[in-house]
Amino acid sequence: MGNPPDPNLPDPPSPSAPLGGGCLCGAVRFEITAPFLSAGYCHCTRCQRRTGTGSSANGRVPKPGFRLLQGSERLRAFKPPTGVPKLFCSSCGSALFSGDPFSDLEVAVRLGALDRDPAIRPQYRQFVDSAVCWEPIPGDDLPRYPGARGA
Ligand SMILES: [Zn+2]
Ligand SMILES: [Zn+2]
Repeated sequence: MGNPPDPNLPDPPSPSAPLGGGCLCGAVRFEITAPFLSAGYCHCTRCQRRTGTGSSANGRVPKPGFRLLQGSERLRAFKPPTGVPKLFCSSCGSALFSGDPFSDLEVAVRLGALDRDPAIRPQYRQFVDSAVCWEPIPGDDLPRYPGARGA
């Protein structure tokens, strides 16, 4: 299962080499102890609104490989009518991950919240139909999906 290890990437996160991450003010900290399942850019309007940028880079990790270390009292969730909750730090506003870290099967972590190389690179671009007009989509070879990946 999975792709062969990329020699240009460091070892993926593991229990013996956890990958830390957190918010801008430092109140919320978490760690990842399993390899990312996938990663990609999302150009949807929700990601634009919650980040203030043209797209958001996210990586999916299995829930057992995600652990909240501190700051659970600062976490707030925006729960859209459809889709998973989007969690952020209520002190500094940093977007951190989506999916309930206490119940969902996986968590989608914002790659910008990580302390170091996640040992995966974004593999696709989704919701390119709603990409912003002021930032052209880079001319990379990543597969592009007009809506949700796989939809
Ligand atoms: Zn914070
Ligand atoms: Zn999105």
